[in-house]
Amino acid sequence: MSAPSPLEAEALEFIRALIRIDSVNTGDAATIGDGETRAARFVQERLEEVGYTTELVEPRAGRASVIARLAGSDPDAGALVVHAHLDVVPVTAADWTHPPFGAEIHDGILYGRGAVDMKNYAGTILAIARAFRREGVVPRRDLIFAFFADEEAGGVWGARWIVEQRPDLLAGATEAIGEVGGFSLPLGTPGRRAYLVATAEKGVTWATLTARGHAAHGSIPTSDNAVVRLARAVAAVGAHRFRVHRTATLERFLTLFGAAAGRPFGDDPGPDELARLGFAAPLIGAGLRNTVSPTVLEAGGKTNVIPATASARFDIRVLPGQDEALRAELAAVVGDDIDIAWGRELRAIESPVDADLLGVLQQAISAEDPGGTVIPYLLPASTDNKHLARLGIRGYGFIPLQVPDDFDVFGQFHTADEAIPVASLHFCTRVTARILRSA
Ligand SMILES: [Zn+2]
Repeated sequence: MSAPSPLEAEALEFIRALIRIDSVNTGDAATIGDGETRAARFVQERLEEVGYTTELVEPRAGRASVIARLAGSDPDAGALVVHAHLDVVPVTAADWTHPPFGAEIHDGILYGRGAVDMKNYAGTILAIARAFRREGVVPRRDLIFAFFADEEAGGVWGARWIVEQRPDLLAGATEAIGEVGGFSLPLGTPGRRAYLVATAEKGVTWATLTARGHAAHGSIPTSDNAVVRLARAVAAVGAHRFRVHRTATLERFLTLFGAAAGRPFGDDPGPDELARLGFAAPLIGAGLRNTVSPTVLEAGGKTNVIPATASARFDIRVLPGQDEALRAELAAVVGDDIDIAWGRELRAIESPVDADLLGVLQQAISAEDPGGTVIPYLLPASTDNKHLARLGIRGYGFIPLQVPDDFDVFGQFHTADEAIPVASLHFCTRVTARILRSA
């Protein structure tokens, strides 16, 4: 590997410094520290050092986010939000070979909590923001660099708070780039790689199913036993396979990936067909259809008493535009003698798969990896892009990382010994700088 450029070196330095700031988000006010605010101050100082005006918001002590804007040349162009979150998920230190907040590099691989999720991008965009300012780069559109708290616990004190309380900080923004996507996948031909961009995210909701019957003594069986009826409904859901729903994103994924790999997909790709996606098979598979997972059961308290009610809780992941259809389908599967109470919903999002921005991503990838093809996919999880969508901002998940064919980036999220090759970080810096220059 040739010597890193000053920009690549500064990005790596910031990534390591941010990993060393323990900003674990336990999701619990009683145990959370002030790591997010320390990380936000680190970012703020480095932005102000080169002349940015920054805004640091701290809706709760220790829970800071920081935002800065670089003015573009075209007043008619919508601003682009470039965002990373400053918090990380907890660690079980005993499971780590390398210290989780050590940011150690061994054999060209950086280890630490946040190496991919997502101190890597925070450090990268911080270094690029500084370089642009120092060099007097004037991008076409305004760039809003946003470093959010609390993504890992739903963004309540980060992106969601800013969207609800300080939308002025995101004024004029039409699109956003953040996690999760951008990593390379082999296409089966040497030198040819797919770079997935998340153009959609599944929604999340919970439901509680309740069967109601009559309480009775266990010695005299009843015909409307709530436990039996609930168990039947749970088993029916477990056996039900929701059909593949071809969202615009899935349509584009199957077409482009099939073409790039020289092997088209069928209409309902099964496990064998998905297996050729390697590490990405579960990720893509989860985005094909709505899913319902029974997770919690509650009924009874005494072995000799038939309880009057029995309930089950379900974790439900919904494709864009499928809310009503899913509710109707689930109700039909469980039958009309079971009550369904729906919890709060975080709705799915989908951004246009034909946006000019995707062309910009492709050009930036092509310049650094001539064998690279940018391909939309649906993320079966949630990011801060869901909050930004409430302001009409169309989000894309694209942290460009060229990795060796046998390196599973998605598998690094939230695991022990979270790691990323240093060369991949340098690639991310080069590609992201190209994207932000020409977006
Ligand atoms: Zn993340």
